[in-house]
Amino acid sequence: MTHHTICALASPPGGAIAVIRLSGESTFQTLDKVFSKNIADVPANTLHYGQIVDPTVKDSESERRVVDDVIVSIYRAPHSYTGEDSAEISCHGSRYIAQRILQLLIDNGAQQAQPGEFTQRAFLNGKMDLSQAEAVADLIASNNAATHRMAISQLRGGFSHELNELREQLLHMTSLLELELDFSDQDVEFANRTTLLNLATAISQHIKQLTDSFRTGNALKNGVPVAIIGAPNVGKSTLLNTLLHDDRAIVSEIQGTTRDLIEDTIQIQGITFRFIDTAGIRRTKDHIEKMGIERSMQAAERAQIVILLSEPNVPFPDLRLTQKKPILHVINKCDQTLPSSSFLFHRDTPSQYIHISALTGDGIQLLENALVREAAIPEIAGNETIVTNMRHYEALMHAQTNLQRVLQGLGSNENHPNTTLPADLIAEDLRLVLNDLAEITGGKITSQETLNQIFSNFCVGK
Ligand code: GDP
Repeated sequence: MTHHTICALASPPGGAIAVIRLSGESTFQTLDKVFSKNIADVPANTLHYGQIVDPTVKDSESERRVVDDVIVSIYRAPHSYTGEDSAEISCHGSRYIAQRILQLLIDNGAQQAQPGEFTQRAFLNGKMDLSQAEAVADLIASNNAATHRMAISQLRGGFSHELNELREQLLHMTSLLELELDFSDQDVEFANRTTLLNLATAISQHIKQLTDSFRTGNALKNGVPVAIIGAPNVGKSTLLNTLLHDDRAIVSEIQGTTRDLIEDTIQIQGITFRFIDTAGIRRTKDHIEKMGIERSMQAAERAQIVILLSEPNVPFPDLRLTQKKPILHVINKCDQTLPSSSFLFHRDTPSQYIHISALTGDGIQLLENALVREAAIPEIAGNETIVTNMRHYEALMHAQTNLQRVLQGLGSNENHPNTTLPADLIAEDLRLVLNDLAEITGGKITSQETLNQIFSNFCVGK
C-alpha cells in the first residue's frame, strides 16, 4: 500500500525544543529539498546537524534562507515507528519556527498528518496490533503509576499475548470439531464432548477473569466515582475545594446554590478519584432545588463510594440506594466550638464517623485514607492483565455470550445434560467467539469506521 508522506508537530507548545515528524515514501526527497545536508544515502538511526532552509530564497548567503539550526534523525523502513521511511526534525521550540518548517515540508510534497495517523500506519504496517496502538494513547495519557504500568504492559503485548492463547485454545476446539465434520457421514465422534466441555469452560473462566478486571482497570484509568451528599450548607463545596486544592466549585453562603454537578478528578496515593459535587439533599418546594436532590440521588447511585456529609446538629440525610456500596459518614466543621450538647445527635457510634474541617483541613487525611481503603483497588500482580478499554471489555462480553452458546450446545445445560448440538452449529458459534477476540487486536475484519474512531482520539503527531 503506498501512502503519501505525512508531517506533524509531535511536541507540545512551550518547550525549548520542538520535534517535527515526517513519515512516508518520499520522506527523504522532501527533506532533501529543505535540509542543508544531503541525507539520501546516510545510514538509518543516525543524527544529522544542519539547517532547515527555504529553497525559494535563492541567494545562499542570505540569512533569510535559514529557518533554523536543527538535528534530523533518520529512520528507514521497516525499522521505524510507522514501519515507513521517516525522520524527526528537532528545532528550537518556537511556534513560528515549527510552523514555518511544517509549511516548507508541505510545500515540498508532504501533507499534514491526521490525529493518530503515525500510529495508525504503525498498525497497518504490522508494527503493532490494535490493542497495542491504543496503549500508545493510554501511555501518553497516563498520570499515575498504575495507569502507566497497565499501558506499558498492553503496549508490550501482554494483553495481545493473552488473547493469542485464548485464540489457540479456540482454534484447537474448532479443529477437533471440524475433523468430526469431515467424517460426519460415518457417525464418528472424534471430539470427546467432555474434553470439549472442559476446554470451553476453561476459556470461559479466562474471559471472565479479564472482564472482571475491567472494574479495576476502569477505576484506575477513569477514576473511582465518588459522590458527596449532604444537606445544604454543611460544606460540600468547601470539602470538594479542599480535596481538589483548588476553587473550581462555587462556595456560597446562600443555601442551595450549588446546583450544577461539578465533576473533577484528584489523585490520592496514586489512585484517581472522580468527584461529583451535588446539590444538597433536603425537602423543598423549590423546583430547581428539588431537581438538585434528584440529581444528587442519581450521583449517589452512579458513585462507587458515597461521602455522606453533615455537621454537628444536622442529621445525615436518609439515603436509600438500590445498590449496596461504601458510605463514609463524615461530620464537618469540627473547628467550630459548640456546646457539647450539639454533638448529642452524633454520639451513638462515634467511631464510625470521620470528623473533619473542610475549612482548616483537619481530618482530611483521615478521609482520604478512608477513600483509598474503600476504593479497594486490588494490588496488581506484575504479570496480570487488566482490561482498561471499554472497546475491549465489550468485545470480551460478546465473546462470553457466544461462548455460553457453545457451552450449551455441548450439553452443559444441567436440566438436559445429554442434549448436544451438532458439531457444525457449535463450530459456527466458536467462530463468532474468535471474531469477537480478533476485533480487539484488529484482524482483517476491523472496519475503517472503528479505526477512525480509535485514532481520532489521538493527538496529531502521534
Ligand atoms: P454546601 O452548600 O454544602 O456546598 O456548603 P458550602 O461549602 O457552600 O459551605 C457553607 C458554609 O459553611 C460556608 O460559609 C463555608 O465557609 C462554611 N464551612 C464549610 N466548611 C466549614 C468548616 O469546616 N468549618 C467552618 N467553620 N465553616 C465551614
